[in-house]
Amino acid sequence: MAKNQSEDLRCALCGAYDSAHTTVVPVLEGLSLCTDCIDYIDSRRDESVRSKKGSAKGKSKKIGNSIPVPKEIKAFLDQYVIGQDEAKKYLSVAVYNHYKRINQQENVKEDDVDIEKSNIVMVGPTGTGKTLLAKSIARLLDVPFTIVDATVLTEAGYVGEDIESLLTRLLQACDYDVEKAQKGIVFIDEIDKIARKSDNPSITRDVSGEGVQQGLLKLLEGSVVLVPPNGGRKHPEQKMIAVDTKNILFICGGAFDGIERKIASRLNTHTVGYGQDELSRKQKRDNLMRYILPEDLKSFGLIPEIIGRLPVLTSLEPLDREALRRILTEPKNAIVRQYERLFELDGLKLKFTDEALDAIVDRALKYKLGARGLRGIVETIMVDAMFEAPSGEKKQFIVDKEFVETQLNKAHFDDLQQA
Ligand code: ADP
Repeated sequence: MAKNQSEDLRCALCGAYDSAHTTVVPVLEGLSLCTDCIDYIDSRRDESVRSKKGSAKGKSKKIGNSIPVPKEIKAFLDQYVIGQDEAKKYLSVAVYNHYKRINQQENVKEDDVDIEKSNIVMVGPTGTGKTLLAKSIARLLDVPFTIVDATVLTEAGYVGEDIESLLTRLLQACDYDVEKAQKGIVFIDEIDKIARKSDNPSITRDVSGEGVQQGLLKLLEGSVVLVPPNGGRKHPEQKMIAVDTKNILFICGGAFDGIERKIASRLNTHTVGYGQDELSRKQKRDNLMRYILPEDLKSFGLIPEIIGRLPVLTSLEPLDREALRRILTEPKNAIVRQYERLFELDGLKLKFTDEALDAIVDRALKYKLGARGLRGIVETIMVDAMFEAPSGEKKQFIVDKEFVETQLNKAHFDDLQQA
């Protein structure tokens, strides 16, 4: 794929780099901001406008203040994430219960029922919105949030990062405010990559698989762990920070490639060999994901103890043409809206025609780039326009299908995708 133009972009407020999970956009010359910070500024502006108007609706839904109810959580998620209704519903309920549980602990009564933690596991193809869902929840609740990749973790004593280091990131996200971190959300990505490598655990030492799962257990169930303040490996000279994970919500995500076969064999069906065309076989496979059960995660290689500590299991659907098309324009910080805003800041009007948007989706589908690829495609298309427009005469800029094709061909987009 084309070298990302914004590879070295960094948010001037939170310091986040432009990446697959964070979008950083140049706002003014020498000033770039990530979309999270832009939204935050937007929401602060809206809040102060509302409070100036004396509106009662201006109350924020923060924990400790009031928790939004599941329907409100879902409505918020709808603004950022297209489709995935089932996952949104599960998440909304789980998050609501989680924070209700925290509040219950604060007003504890003698005979209270102990509500168990509702950590979540989301299963679905890459680029379908798992991280986006978790990020959006954290944004709504205004709690510290971090994303960690399970693949960098290894069992203590081996090359890689100690499992506790995932809490380092959470502490860093709230400036080492331990109390805040203890109510934060950790998104563990690629949880499927730490599946047990073999059914027979004794063959070789599985330091990045089952070993990590064992290590994660104590974090997921809730215990006090010592966290290295700067991450990496623990070493004796380092002063550790004690963090109680009892109220930290862990959301795990993974593609679990091939799990359909486990589901199919459990359901006593087959994913292949129907003698039907490719499309209906694919539909069959996609539908299978909806029947996922904890035991399928076990067949895939997660240990039962981990599965037991991830009681909420939900699946995400692959994104079809219609969903990709909507993702381009509908979410609050949709990529097309971001570019329109960038042009607006220069006093210019930018418009994408419907055919242009269809052509962008076609390319994303052609190269199986999914939603993540949409951004790369739009960036490739827009780079010349972004370079020329601020110093040009034109006040209005229309991106049509022809422009899309010309720009992608000029950038040898096809060749890059095939390379
Ligand atoms: P993953 O499922 O691999 O965690 P992400 O949530 O990181 O995928 O999605 C990658 C990017 O694709 C996001 O930043 C977002 O822009 C876009 N995206 C993916 N799914 C959706 C969706 N359902 N609605 C809106 N945008 C989406």
